[in-house]
Amino acid sequence: MPSKNKLPDNPFPEVEAVYESFSEDILNLDYDEIKHKYLGKKGLVIDLLCRIKEKQNKEKPLYGKAVNSLKNAIEQKINTLRGKENLQQTGKMLTKDAIDITAPFDVNIPLQDKPKLISQPGSLHPITEIGEKALRIFESMGFHVTYSRRLDNDYNVFEALNLPPEHPARDMWDTFWTQDDLIPITHTSAMQNRILTTKKVPIREVIVGRCMRNEATDASHEHTFYQVEGMYVDKGITLAHLIGTLSAFMNEFYGRDVKYRIQPSYFPFVEPGLEFLIECLTCGQKGCPFCGYSGWVELVPCGPIHPNVLREGGYDPETYTGFAWGLGYDRLVILQSHINDIRHIHSGDLKFLEQFK
Ligand SMILES: [Zn+2]
Repeated sequence: MPSKNKLPDNPFPEVEAVYESFSEDILNLDYDEIKHKYLGKKGLVIDLLCRIKEKQNKEKPLYGKAVNSLKNAIEQKINTLRGKENLQQTGKMLTKDAIDITAPFDVNIPLQDKPKLISQPGSLHPITEIGEKALRIFESMGFHVTYSRRLDNDYNVFEALNLPPEHPARDMWDTFWTQDDLIPITHTSAMQNRILTTKKVPIREVIVGRCMRNEATDASHEHTFYQVEGMYVDKGITLAHLIGTLSAFMNEFYGRDVKYRIQPSYFPFVEPGLEFLIECLTCGQKGCPFCGYSGWVELVPCGPIHPNVLREGGYDPETYTGFAWGLGYDRLVILQSHINDIRHIHSGDLKFLEQFK
């Protein structure tokens, strides 16, 4: 059995001696030292090559080959050594010097300066908590959950939803655009056409997504918000199914019978367009700034899916009908927790978030 420090098929003891010494050194020296000693201009491998002239002619080819194998073996091993050293160096940098610029602000504060923060466990953001609760209720009602795209094209965001170019109702949405003509979605309805064209009836889908609108912000308007869209398509679906679904959801979500009412509105992708309102839970319908002293809160724009949207998705509106809604998570959080400014929700302010632990 060959020794692990032996070069295969090498009859020259002086070549073997260099390899043995290299095998020792690689355990003790670093990359630069070892490269200089063996592969440098005055290194041991060059020295061996120079000694080829001392060999007899018939030995020269074999000797040259043996020295070359030695050189290759050494190169291979020291390259591996360099890889390991680089890795260790990177590891040291990561643990010692690196600052994670994407982390929350307090992560980069030296440990001794943040005894209070590290002693406190984190908690779920109210949007996450409310969102999970809402989705579990919709799932228990038989809906399947889909996640929306963050960016989409004009066709899915507007055109397929009965909003062709130049449609005046496009002005209802102040839209951001990327340089590639994509839109950070203005509503989760952007997924409706994809669902209609890829799923079979009965379609029972809730779509969750983060939406953006190019709006000036104030206490009740935010440029970024979360929506959970619902859509149901089958034969014989009526407005009564929509109202029953939303009412059952509200009762389950708030854990009691919630008063609601329906009023007409306008959204191009539903016909007729409706607004589902619930009693103001902040003031108990006595009247407060949040409900505009009306006692009612507009919570869910909704309605039967417009025949043009069904047709664009490949369904004959004479045979199939459906309904859709777009519910804002942020409004659910505000209503549940009596928050007076919607901008707190996405502020990342720990003082605000700690109230939800
Ligand atoms: Zn109120």
